[in-house]
Amino acid sequence: LSERTDICVVGAGPAGLSAAQAASKLGLHLVVVDDNERVGGQLIKQTHKFFGSQQHYCGVRGIDIARLLYESLPPDLVQFWFGSTVIGYYPGHILGVLRGDRVVEVEAQRLIIATGATENLLAFPGSDLPGVYGAGAVQTLMNVHGVRPGKRVLMIGSGNIGLIVSYQLLQAGVDVAGVVEALPEIGGYLVHAAKIRRMGVPIYVSHTIVEAIGTEDVEGAVIAQIDGNWQPVAGTERSIDCDVICLSVGLNPLSDLLRQAGCRIRYVSELGGWVALHDQRMETTVPGIYVCGDVSGIEEAVTAMLEGRIAGAAAAWSLDPSVADQATTIIEAAQEEIDQFRSGPVGENAWLGKQELMVSR
Ligand SMILES: Cc1cc2nc3c(=O)[nH]c(=O)nc-3n(C[C@H](O)[C@H](O)[C@H](O)COP(=O)(O)OP(=O)(O)OC[C@H]3O[C@@H](n4cnc5c(N)ncnc54)[C@H](O)[C@@H]3O)c2cc1C
Repeated sequence: LSERTDICVVGAGPAGLSAAQAASKLGLHLVVVDDNERVGGQLIKQTHKFFGSQQHYCGVRGIDIARLLYESLPPDLVQFWFGSTVIGYYPGHILGVLRGDRVVEVEAQRLIIATGATENLLAFPGSDLPGVYGAGAVQTLMNVHGVRPGKRVLMIGSGNIGLIVSYQLLQAGVDVAGVVEALPEIGGYLVHAAKIRRMGVPIYVSHTIVEAIGTEDVEGAVIAQIDGNWQPVAGTERSIDCDVICLSVGLNPLSDLLRQAGCRIRYVSELGGWVALHDQRMETTVPGIYVCGDVSGIEEAVTAMLEGRIAGAAAAWSLDPSVADQATTIIEAAQEEIDQFRSGPVGENAWLGKQELMVSR
């Protein structure tokens, strides 16, 4: 066994970092494991200023939120394992972790799983051609490595991610040929849509991609209008000149570890896929295993941070009853803010999904 600790957090995105912040504030020792070389999860790609309310870093760039959270953690209590992937769960809350070319183990009294999400992809003729990317890959290329993915991009999906990445492409000097959306209306905030429309980008609602054109790599795409049954309407096809097709069609909770640990999992469409049942304190049906952030339902960084605080405080409290008062204060404050967030139109879907997921002990 390589390491014993009070709490092991898997994932150093906003959820995992906030969990570490709350638990270390209550005096617990933690190991935080993340497969990236730096903290932040999705936040390291997010060069835009966040929307939302002021107490949740509204107006601060995603990359700076990651830095602020990291700097708030006491190094004597929180140990980071970067470039380390959790590859397996063993009974007794032991995790197998791939670090370089070695597999090491961490045994923790409590586990907090904050692994986030993976991107959904679409299958269509030509979707395996080089030049078809997920939006996360495009963001990583541009915003982490400073590399343009191509010269002219067709964006599929008009949720906030599709709209924001389109804007970032334009900022990087890449043409955006258009945004294609299957629903009859734009999925993301209209403020983001207005920004790219002002820059001349057409948004094709009730449309889908029919095929990618090209032999060695993407040379163009065909899109078409769709009917009420999501079928292309004959005669509405149009060719679009592009060398990149960027798919931004939703995220999917990364719940494999939870499934492996025996947590009860349920498919909840409002939360984006398979998610673990959990109680008000974010504890799953396996005692001592907690969840927070996108892995417990696709939402936003704001709710990921709030759920992280709850999971961190609850895990700490379960190990040290003397911190009950402080933990209760953290949990109640975070819960109140989550309730407020989910009572608005943006959070409504998540609220519905969470009702289906919540277990009481
Ligand atoms: C383009 C874009 C724009 C966005 N804009 C906003 C915004 O303006 N406002 C807002 O509130 N939200 C925004 N979001 C959403 C927000 O980024 C996510 O909801 C948030 O990052 C989820 O946090 P998380 O900690 O749950 O997961 P993540 O940030 O995904 O972090 C999970 C971490 O766990 C690691 N990990 C996964 N599995 C393992 C494993 N087995 N071993 C080790 N490490 C592992 C991952 O590599 C990752 O680093 C945006 C998202 C995108 C993509």
